[in-house]
Amino acid sequence: MQLPVSQLQRNKYFLLSLGCSKNSVDSESIAQILHQRGMSGTGDPESAEVLIVNTCGFINSAKEESITALRELVEIKRADQMLIAAGCLSQRYGEILAQEVPGLDGVIGTRRWMDIFDLISRLRERKHPQPLYHLPTDAKMVGLDEKGVLRASVQGAYAYLKIADGCRRPCAFCAIPRIKGTAVSRPLESIVGEAVRLQDTGVKEVMLIAQDSTDYGYDLGMKDGLAQLLDAIVEAAPEIPWLRIMYAYPGYVTPRLMETMARHKQVLPYLDMPLQHGHRETLKRMRRPAKVEWVYETIGKLRELMPDLAVRTTFIVGYPGETEEEFEALLTMLRDLEFDRVGAFQYSYELGTPSAALPNHVDDAIKLDRYERLMELQQGISLKKNQALVGKTLDILVEGHGLGEDEDGLNTGAVISLGRSYRDAPEIDGYVLVEGELPAGEIVPARVTGATTYDLLATVDLKSPSIVEAGRIYGEGMIDLKSL
Ligand code: SF4
Repeated sequence: MQLPVSQLQRNKYFLLSLGCSKNSVDSESIAQILHQRGMSGTGDPESAEVLIVNTCGFINSAKEESITALRELVEIKRADQMLIAAGCLSQRYGEILAQEVPGLDGVIGTRRWMDIFDLISRLRERKHPQPLYHLPTDAKMVGLDEKGVLRASVQGAYAYLKIADGCRRPCAFCAIPRIKGTAVSRPLESIVGEAVRLQDTGVKEVMLIAQDSTDYGYDLGMKDGLAQLLDAIVEAAPEIPWLRIMYAYPGYVTPRLMETMARHKQVLPYLDMPLQHGHRETLKRMRRPAKVEWVYETIGKLRELMPDLAVRTTFIVGYPGETEEEFEALLTMLRDLEFDRVGAFQYSYELGTPSAALPNHVDDAIKLDRYERLMELQQGISLKKNQALVGKTLDILVEGHGLGEDEDGLNTGAVISLGRSYRDAPEIDGYVLVEGELPAGEIVPARVTGATTYDLLATVDLKSPSIVEAGRIYGEGMIDLKSL
């Protein structure tokens, strides 16, 4: 019983994207579908006909954030507006979510985000207040050549490019396979076509993302699908300076993938490979690959092939049954392998996952203590690794600038540019602060002059070949990059 909407609002949507980079890709794809259907986006929920939240349903804190966002929109929603919950929370809880958030008009699952306009059309026509649901469990893959939807999320000079969705791994703590279904790879040609499109729009960095990027192509009968995909992208899109691999699964970083990463200059010597723990027994209870020696061997081989390799990983502390001895083994792995970037999480009880039924859940205070001890150890390692880069020249992708601050946080008035090196994935790793005002979106060589726990300080390396070649500098702190 949708009240007539004003002409002003009609065909306007407000879209809030929560959760991971894979969800932001789905949000951008939803936006593209709505644009194809004549709708336009607005950042103001008050002036929209359709309010959409692309939710996250991974762990408790993310679920709470999504429910809070939905409830806040229910609060302001008028009778002439409709509120739709999309994404993983919708797929996982469906009708329960509508009970949890009275006032919801539509619930659409993450596997069928591409049917969003059909749901809006049904909501516009409905003659009753009950929510409408669209939660099919089959996953329909949409790429460039199916519906003209670019399966990428472009954030200025960098972009996330989705290569597959879903996951076939049995990790006992994870709800994603139940939410997204098994792993479905996108056609290689579609992905390569989109990489070329991103190149043509001037994107400098492309993150290849999936729940498990190293499983790419398995369902298509490909062997070493990710290595094949990298070869194809490098050949078709040679102008994309940076290709970054995210979400590798231990045990599937093969010799061919390592060799391919080392062979292509475009493929950054950076690998994100969540390991989750460092003790065999904990990994077994997690239903994760438990051959810890494989991790040591593989990191060793990778560093032989790519001495400057930066490794990011993720760990869970306080997993059910985790003893002090098991936790110590995890700390030993950090000391031994000295990862560049580490994300750590305290185990989150997830109803319906096999881990929830395990005995010996760890007390919250112990979880927090272990989390803090791990982060403290890693901060020392991160600082040491950053300090080892002082004097080195790194290519920096400039993302913006601002005014510098001194150690007391006081504004120094000096212009500082914020950027990232190959060691820094966006939004999750560190930054490089470069003196001077450098144009955003450009890659500039900078010599590291200082280090903090997570970030680096640098100055443009005027002696670097690319700058010297350019040969032209003018103005205090401003470099004419067009001549680079
Ligand atoms: S590989 Fe990642 S997404 Fe897949 S089940 Fe394991 S933790 Fe979940």
